[in-house]
Amino acid sequence: MIEIRFMEPEWCPMVICDACGCPIDRRNRLGDGNALWPADTSMPEGKIGDPMAGHRRVYHAHKGRCDLKIQERVGEHLLWEGLSEHLAFLFHNAGFGQEDLERSEEYWRTFS
Ligand SMILES: [Zn+2]
Repeated sequence: MIEIRFMEPEWCPMVICDACGCPIDRRNRLGDGNALWPADTSMPEGKIGDPMAGHRRVYHAHKGRCDLKIQERVGEHLLWEGLSEHLAFLFHNAGFGQEDLERSEEYWRTFS
């Protein structure tokens, strides 16, 4: 999940592990993560083209033990991809490009 958490000195958007509740951050000891979603991506009959019918919940989890916990909890076969690839795809689908990333990096440099 994505949450806003207080990370001294700011409130920051963070990707939170759905298994352990800790941020997924390469800078901490828990490390990198995966995005996981149900493998059944079949569309209900007659719903092809309906944007409200074709969606699945996405889980975020640290690689390894947390990833396995999510698979056990959901109880069905999950597809997955690395969090960095998943977020890059999300940015692409939200219409964000390299120029937006550079502008946001410049914005965040003012806070560090
Ligand atoms: Zn975790």
